[in-house]
Amino acid sequence: MSRLLVGGSADMAYDNNNIFAKILRGEAPAFKVFEDDHTLAFMDVMPQIAGHTLVIPKFAAVDLHELPVVSLAQTMATVQRVSGAVKQAFSAPGIMIAQLNGPAAGQTVFHLHFHIMPRYEGLEMGMHAREMADFAVLNEHAERIREQLAQSATG
Ligand code: 5GP
Repeated sequence: MSRLLVGGSADMAYDNNNIFAKILRGEAPAFKVFEDDHTLAFMDVMPQIAGHTLVIPKFAAVDLHELPVVSLAQTMATVQRVSGAVKQAFSAPGIMIAQLNGPAAGQTVFHLHFHIMPRYEGLEMGMHAREMADFAVLNEHAERIREQLAQSATG
């Protein structure tokens, strides 16, 4: 039964001190945009484009292969919800969802996460995890996304 729920395992053990685990425990700051019992969404601190947001499960999984299917469904529900709000907040004609598994794929933080990135015709994204954003700007972007989420909840 558990093999039906879990896709496999990562090549490394889960480290409770990874930065996203610290954010989940409230030990490290984050510009949060959404939280429920199973997931958290917050701004990427080194965005590849304005509005770059991350969604993580509260389940301790290194990568996609370690996450039980139920948690995956909960996480994807948040990805869909936050993605819609990011699209509205940044007037983005396109949204790219990315998710990297293992160092060979470019994963740098070893708690499963989904990237939500606005895309526009002819506008290239910046380099992956390269340049720290201005915190005032990140705060304003988070506020924009929260406003959209609030509108879609009431509308
Ligand atoms: P990965 O390379 O693992 O797919 O993506 C990790 C992402 O986490 C990168 O886009 C990077 O900018 C972001 N990141 C790294 N450290 C922090 C942090 O302390 N806070 C936040 N909010 N994002 C981070």
